[in-house]
Amino acid sequence: MYQVRSLYKSFGTFQALKSIDLTVPTGSTTVLIGPSGSGKSTLLRCLNLLEPINEGSILFNNQEIGTVVRDAYRIRRQVAMVFQNFELFQHLSAVENIMLAPMKVKGVPRLEAHDRALALLEKVRIPDKADSYPDELSGGQQQRVAIARALAMDPMAMLYDEPTSALDPEMIREVLDVMTELSQGGMTSICVTHELAFARRAADQIVFMEQGEVVEARPTEQFFSGTGSPRTRAFLDQIL
Ligand code: ATP
Ligand code: MG
Repeated sequence: MYQVRSLYKSFGTFQALKSIDLTVPTGSTTVLIGPSGSGKSTLLRCLNLLEPINEGSILFNNQEIGTVVRDAYRIRRQVAMVFQNFELFQHLSAVENIMLAPMKVKGVPRLEAHDRALALLEKVRIPDKADSYPDELSGGQQQRVAIARALAMDPMAMLYDEPTSALDPEMIREVLDVMTELSQGGMTSICVTHELAFARRAADQIVFMEQGEVVEARPTEQFFSGTGSPRTRAFLDQIL
């Protein structure tokens, strides 16, 4: 689905991403890990065309998108992003949060959007919370509404930026379970997360980044086999 070649991204004189190569096959799950400031969020934002790139190319379904600005809007509709802080609309109920984009952006009729939203709430395992407002939901429930809202646009890929790092430990599992189910159902997914148990379970490949570079990108089993680069091992030792 994605092929990134020699991608460079700078903020002023600061090089945030250097010579990034990355291949994400359709239907696969990639987990991005690395220390704070290593460029994980920046890379996700480049993949979603929220940040312009300086050099290199991003192929999305074999089409160059990295440098073609007029495609940004279309790509962003096809690639959903889920953030650490949910970012739900506080004045809308769960079901209304999920219905909004299909109605506004795609012109889906209200009743149809409503039915679909209820089905998505079922999928993320909170069918009874349709009429609850965000401030009446736990963090884990809010994040699952955010995932359902992303799915409502029928994205071709899901990008997650530390979706569980703002959650209490007991809520992390329920969000990761939903993500795992989506991955195993064939949703192309790219996740920034430090949840290594999830990575082992759901990821096809793990990408370790440091200082704006991909140090290592390997199939999950190989990655955890302990034969990787010393930089990767040092990082894993720190967070395990
Ligand atoms: P974290 O784990 O803390 O979320 P990260 O790996 O996601 O870190 P990024 O947010 O991608 O890291 O940031 C990579 C580097 O780029 C950091 O040094 C950051 O300060 C810098 N950076 C990110 N966004 C901007 C920006 N808009 N302007 C200037 N510098 C930026
Ligand atoms: Mg980040």
